[in-house]
Amino acid sequence: MPQHYDHDRGARRPSSVYPMTPSPGGRRPRRHRSPLPVFLLIGVVIVLAAVLLFLRLPGHKAPPSASSTPSPIPTDSPAPTPTPSPEQNNQRDISVPDWITQDILPLNEWSRPGDPLPQVNGVVIHYVGNPGTTAEQNRSYFKNLAETHEAYASSHFLVGIDGKIIQCVPLNEIAYCSTVRNADTIAIECCHPDAEGKFTDETMASLVKLVDWLIDTYDLQREDVIRHYDVAGKECPIYYVRNPDAWEDFLDNLTFPHP
Ligand SMILES: [Zn+2]
Repeated sequence: MPQHYDHDRGARRPSSVYPMTPSPGGRRPRRHRSPLPVFLLIGVVIVLAAVLLFLRLPGHKAPPSASSTPSPIPTDSPAPTPTPSPEQNNQRDISVPDWITQDILPLNEWSRPGDPLPQVNGVVIHYVGNPGTTAEQNRSYFKNLAETHEAYASSHFLVGIDGKIIQCVPLNEIAYCSTVRNADTIAIECCHPDAEGKFTDETMASLVKLVDWLIDTYDLQREDVIRHYDVAGKECPIYYVRNPDAWEDFLDNLTFPHP
């Protein structure tokens, strides 16, 4: 299941099709005694159809479809369209602060497919589920998936037990972490010392700093910062699913510029 795009908005269905050819044949409509009203009716239908067709033309540009292959990020905006283009807040080159260690995974279909992430509508928080492992070890796990083929998995960021932040996937590319929300979110995996899954103070401090930066960068709201659980019902990050108050405390520590 490498790709789960969440675009369910297809092209608008055309409104009901007008009967262009009312059944000719020998039988006349009961109420029409002369052929003239019938021809008049056909004429009106044709004119109506032409007007409808004309009205549809300018807005008929198909929205980006989920099935189409995403094209590389355009360097120039395309010709202006009459309707506002869908929000794409992730086109620019975002420079990452120096308190983040960039150690980007090599391109590979298992953990870094290189698919564009044209818009960011949220941040999804995870726990690594492997107690006591470091951010570096989890990055190696992602990297080795290119050989082990164990799973499709990765995240944009890993936060270590010691608070170190490693970036594994560029911000303008999708990571394999949050199933249906891979296509429009940034994923953060946090390390934890034990199976309970509670983050250390160092991890939590770095996570707050990182998410605050993402909130500011992408103009996010409180409801945009979510758990993996909120996407897929998975018990992840486990401690913050089992202790919703601890999750709310984390959200309370974030800074939202536009409440
Ligand atoms: Zn998760």
